[in-house]
Amino acid sequence: MDITKILEPLNDVQRQVVTAPSTAMLVLAGAGSGKTRVLVHRIAWQIQVENHYPQNMLAVTFTNKAAKEMRHRIEHLLNIPTHSMWIGTFHGIAYRLLRRHFSQAKLPEGFQVMDSADQLRVIKRLLNNLKLDEEQWPARQVQWHINAQKDEGIRARHCLTPYDKYAEQMLAIYLAYERLCDQSGLVDFAELLLRAHELLRDNPELLALYQQRFTQVHVDEFQDTNTIQYAWLRLLTENRDNLFVVGDDDQSIYGWRGAKIENIYKFQKDYPNHHIIKLEQNYRSTGNILKTANQIIQVNQGRMGKELWTQSDAGELLSLYTAFNEQDEAYFVIERIKTWLIDKPRRKDIAILYRSNAQSRLFEERLMIAGIPYRVYGGLRFFDRAEIKNALAYLRLIMNRDDDTSFERVINTPTRGIGAKTVEDIRVIAREQNSSLWAASIALINQRNLSARASNALVSFLNLIKQLSEKTQGLELFEQVKLVVEKSGLLAFYQQAKIDNSEEKVENLEELVSAAKSFVFTQENEEQLSELALFLTHAALESGDRQADEFEDSVQLMTLHSAKGLEFNLVFLVGLEEGLFPSQQSVDDAGRLEEERRLCYVGITRAMQKVYLSYAESRRLYGRETYPKPSRFLKEMPAECLQEIRLRGNISQAPSIPLPKKSPIANEGRYKAGQKVSHAKFGTGVILQIEGEGAQERVQVKFNTPTIGIKWLMLAYAKLETV
Ligand code: ATP
Ligand code: MG
Repeated sequence: MDITKILEPLNDVQRQVVTAPSTAMLVLAGAGSGKTRVLVHRIAWQIQVENHYPQNMLAVTFTNKAAKEMRHRIEHLLNIPTHSMWIGTFHGIAYRLLRRHFSQAKLPEGFQVMDSADQLRVIKRLLNNLKLDEEQWPARQVQWHINAQKDEGIRARHCLTPYDKYAEQMLAIYLAYERLCDQSGLVDFAELLLRAHELLRDNPELLALYQQRFTQVHVDEFQDTNTIQYAWLRLLTENRDNLFVVGDDDQSIYGWRGAKIENIYKFQKDYPNHHIIKLEQNYRSTGNILKTANQIIQVNQGRMGKELWTQSDAGELLSLYTAFNEQDEAYFVIERIKTWLIDKPRRKDIAILYRSNAQSRLFEERLMIAGIPYRVYGGLRFFDRAEIKNALAYLRLIMNRDDDTSFERVINTPTRGIGAKTVEDIRVIAREQNSSLWAASIALINQRNLSARASNALVSFLNLIKQLSEKTQGLELFEQVKLVVEKSGLLAFYQQAKIDNSEEKVENLEELVSAAKSFVFTQENEEQLSELALFLTHAALESGDRQADEFEDSVQLMTLHSAKGLEFNLVFLVGLEEGLFPSQQSVDDAGRLEEERRLCYVGITRAMQKVYLSYAESRRLYGRETYPKPSRFLKEMPAECLQEIRLRGNISQAPSIPLPKKSPIANEGRYKAGQKVSHAKFGTGVILQIEGEGAQERVQVKFNTPTIGIKWLMLAYAKLETV
């Protein structure tokens, strides 16, 4: 047995982790220290040396891209097929469980996964049905509320008795939403996790089966698991001490979506026999990059605390560019990419990272002009485009007539003379008889209250769906998609010149047929699903493909959030502006600001060789002209690691942005963030942050009395007492 391939590329501590006997283990370590490498090598070790079977392994990662990469690396190490190994995201794995055990999960066989845009649509429709004012009950807020409950494992029936009118209404909406989803066989992302948890919790035999199957459970990016994900892991590994997790508290960036960094503490309490290992050597980045990242993250309070070091050279300084505006920023970035590509032609080693999806468009435009292939992850995905969603809705409907979201989407798309009035009548009946829109349409036709024209239009729509369903039987997947795109009338509809971007839309529909043609489901299909069902799920789960195809060498564009776990030789961190990064919502909230800072740390530590930072002095964003200030994160970076790039290519070593403000030296450190204080008028509170020096020094305090809330106070006048 040759184990050198597994052990040789590891340092001593990593080797110790990889070869440790099965036990609960937490590897807590900074960016680029080899956590993911250790996890992969441990799986290989357990299979090759400890005689576990591949099917005994469960590995959870954060993105589909990371899961693919992991499978690939294990295959490379072991030279064996890995299809029987469960490697995927929490959502992907939950989906798989629900498919296999749909009836125990109390779901219809043809249940459909909704992505977050679908979910929003359902909620909008629901609010409309409930006659609630969208201004007062914004659909996004309702969506956020429902998902937050589910992430905590709380169903509507578990909610506490509402204490006010608002909570009462919200609960009523949640209940109605649950009912609607159950009726239509729709499952949103948060529901996937919650239901997968309930499935195992409420079916002890099934749980026992999976506990026996998964002798080893591995989790990457553990710091970003939420309550329900942790509860699910706990069910699988309770009393067995076979949970192996790796993570970094400094890279916890999904708090806003319910991730609980406390899970790191919970793990230690729940698995008393656990081992904690720290890795401290960074193998990814140059000295300057690492030093910059280390210094930024130190500004955060309450870290678990770890310092990374590297043997690498200092490398190049980080470059900072001040652009006039967002156009100039994009131009600068693409020029630098061109220069870089002259000696180092691998495009996929280059990433442009931004805070918000809306920033990608300009870089895309410039890349396109320069003829440089690129790929955007996240953002408006191929599968999110209206014409594609319409085609998918037809496909969903032929699989499941009770899918109301799809039904509403295409009942009059392309237009076929079914008016809003008829649709409203259908909705009313569906509500009255508590049925799907499909069943309600049949009832409506039978009532014969419709005008002949409306009735004919509706009958022909129902017939169309039935025909599509019959004609697609027995066809290959891509033929099914092609047939639906054509016979539904969508293609002809988009071919009309009067529609905006009609050419692009037709191309996209054609692309959907190609996507179906090249669709390969990489995991074993134990659930015996139809290809179409698998394809539709792929469309809902898989994150975005735009422009260059997956295997083409292309520059990578993504948000900082999606860059987690990845690495690139050259990284552009763009839009470093107050209000953009850190985001506007976070600047007044100490907790969220720290999360933004961790995001900045994640961004910088993606780079192996070179980082360019940039901000614009004016920026048109979401249609408005803004004049942002440079991001505070720039001021927190060590000045000696930065060089400023001036126009016409001059370089100056000392950045012209104001240098880092020192933490409060005045007051001899009497006040610091987290310090409890008392004020004569406002009462007691806690300091969130401190700014300025000497007479200008001011503190932001969160007072305990809710009506007073958060206030900025000048220290010289406020006469704060420490408590
Ligand atoms: P992140 O926190 O960003 O997810 P990580 O801790 O998971 O980072 P890896 O991605 O596993 O780190 O490793 C970072 C880089 O260092 C990779 O290119 C990896 O191959 C390399 N690396 C890890 N350990 C070693 C080692 N012992 N010797 C040489 N290279 C290593
Ligand atoms: Mg990693």
